[in-house]
Amino acid sequence: MRVPYSYLREQFADSESILRDIKGLLESTDFTLGAAVAQFEESFAQLCGTRHAIGVGTGTDALFLALKALGVGPGDEVITAANTFIATAGAITAAGARPAFVDVGDDFNLDPAAVEPAITPRTRAILPVHYAGQPAKMAPILEVAKRRGLPVVEDACQAIGATIGDRLVGTFGVTAGFSLHPLKNLNVWGDGGVIVTSSDALDGQLRLLRNHGLRNRDEVEVFGYNSRLDTLQAIVGNHLIKDVEAITAARIRNARALDSGLADLAGRVRIPARDPRERHVFHLYMFEADDRDRLLAHLVGRGIEAKIHYPVPLHLQPASRRLGYKDGDFPVAERQATRIITLPVHQHLTDDQVSYMVESVRRFYRG
Ligand SMILES: *Cc1c(COP(=O)(O)O)cnc(C)c1O
Repeated sequence: MRVPYSYLREQFADSESILRDIKGLLESTDFTLGAAVAQFEESFAQLCGTRHAIGVGTGTDALFLALKALGVGPGDEVITAANTFIATAGAITAAGARPAFVDVGDDFNLDPAAVEPAITPRTRAILPVHYAGQPAKMAPILEVAKRRGLPVVEDACQAIGATIGDRLVGTFGVTAGFSLHPLKNLNVWGDGGVIVTSSDALDGQLRLLRNHGLRNRDEVEVFGYNSRLDTLQAIVGNHLIKDVEAITAARIRNARALDSGLADLAGRVRIPARDPRERHVFHLYMFEADDRDRLLAHLVGRGIEAKIHYPVPLHLQPASRRLGYKDGDFPVAERQATRIITLPVHQHLTDDQVSYMVESVRRFYRG
């Protein structure tokens, strides 16, 4: 049996209605900041429960522009997790600031206890990541942020629809970034990103920054950037946003089946604790496994496209050399990097494929 990681072909096998709307775009030629963008922004804000959503070019730009709007720049530091996708740190360096990495907990998310010791006089923001779709521990992070007067920007790129209690991620910080990249849970046909905020001032600033700082055709309010969500991608997004609940529910269902199938391998396999007050949306189904590299080879040999997200923590990447970190700085993230493995969990898996993954992991440990 084959269990592919990508599901894009199945997902877009029947796209007549999307293509019809794209044809309509060729008639309106409303290619930049067209009506579909405003419509998508409104739906997205409603979905997240924020006053505003601003469509931008990528998830990376969403975080970068959010930091710029908060005035983060050269000489500043932004605290983030050592184990995230590189784009989180890339957004910080694009703003001219320095990523200040901290260690993570058993949930693969920023360890709240590690945040305060990392604050220096140069710290300008805290950027927790809702990694894999699991909400970060926002209550203690917000407590430190408030006490120290620092804004929180959420990297929600992997976590659309995730909740803590009855609140969606993206509503905890002053602003948050989402990605619409093809591999994310709400995906378009190329790149796209969204920033959410309930601050009218930030919304205004972000709308300027994403479009050259133009107040109108002839007046430039600030020097900005060119990072708009394409109308074409907004058209795709307007179709896909209706499916977010179904996509999320299918991923959660698959994850539950994997959780229960692997539960009695405890000791060899460590699945993060599932807190019933939180909704993990399973962008990734990630766990720690003994003998990880051999397990990975075993699964790949059986046709299962398991992956490692990621084998090298950010502070040990060549790109981080000038930041002065060394091996041993973040022991939890470093240990996890040698033990984590990701199984496909997407909405197009069949029950048979999920059972086959469970059986394949069990066979590896049980012989
Ligand atoms: C995907 C991702 C991003 C960046 O999104 P792009 O749309 O690819 O630029 C940022 N942070 C995390 C955690 C991501 O997974």
